[in-house]
Amino acid sequence: MNSFEIVVVGSLNVDVTVDVPEAPAAGQTLLGGDARRSGGGKGGNQAVAAARLGRRTAMVGAVGAQDGDYLLSILRDEQIDVGGVRRVDGPTGQAFVFVDPEGDSTIVVSPGANNHVEVDRDLVAGARCVLLQQEVPAAVVEEAASVANGLVVLNPAPARPVAASLLANVDVLVPNRGELLGLAGVDRGDLVQIAQKLGTRGPVVVTLGAQGCLVVEAERSTRVPAEQVKAVDATAAGDSFCAAIADAVLDGADIVEAARWATRVAAVTVTRHGAMASLPTRAELGA
Ligand code: AMP
Repeated sequence: MNSFEIVVVGSLNVDVTVDVPEAPAAGQTLLGGDARRSGGGKGGNQAVAAARLGRRTAMVGAVGAQDGDYLLSILRDEQIDVGGVRRVDGPTGQAFVFVDPEGDSTIVVSPGANNHVEVDRDLVAGARCVLLQQEVPAAVVEEAASVANGLVVLNPAPARPVAASLLANVDVLVPNRGELLGLAGVDRGDLVQIAQKLGTRGPVVVTLGAQGCLVVEAERSTRVPAEQVKAVDATAAGDSFCAAIADAVLDGADIVEAARWATRVAAVTVTRHGAMASLPTRAELGA
């Protein structure tokens, strides 16, 4: 057994971020601001978020030759164990992020090395919590969830069909509205009923952006409003939310308390620019 509280299995990307005057439409060319490069990827963001909340965190992922050292050094600087990060031939994952004046982002991801992640089964099996997202192949997510012995938290983003056998291994599912509808294969409907029929073995927390979130359990559902803040960049809001859910549940919080804590953490994230740069530390949260 290892001593990691949270093991994140997922993507590592270099984010190239450009502020744009409006969300890009099909066929449109826009002039934006200066491009900024930074560390990102849903997996990397969740790992940094967990580490800044004070959790002993390890990353399972993959990087290419170019930019690989850059991403590994970012993780090491956050005291994240990178023994489970493979180095592969070919490009590192990249995300092209366009941020509009409302702080909403349009993102194109080029997975690169993220398609070559291999699950470190010992690391995953020994973790108190495994945090998963979908910027790595489905087989990787399914394997990680099946060998985990601790809490399994899945953020099914970006949206794609998910095997029933995976959902059956998930303790906390954290989709946004579109992802929830996509998982159920419907385009509208009552979110509570849809979440209750999905077949997870635990609650579903549906994130609703500036509207907060909806916590769906077998017998009840609870709305948790978002904090009123001036949002400038929603990048990594969902990632910080998921890490904070794991953080609170590891401390013994029930799922509604965990959602309140995640709402607070994500509210800070949206008030700052960037992905990893926007993630708050426990000290900054006054906790
Ligand atoms: P999303 O992935 O956009 O649903 O956002 C995840 C979480 O971040 C939400 O459930 C909120 O808690 C928080 N959040 C997102 N956008 C805002 C906003 N404009 N103001 C406050 N909190 C937000």
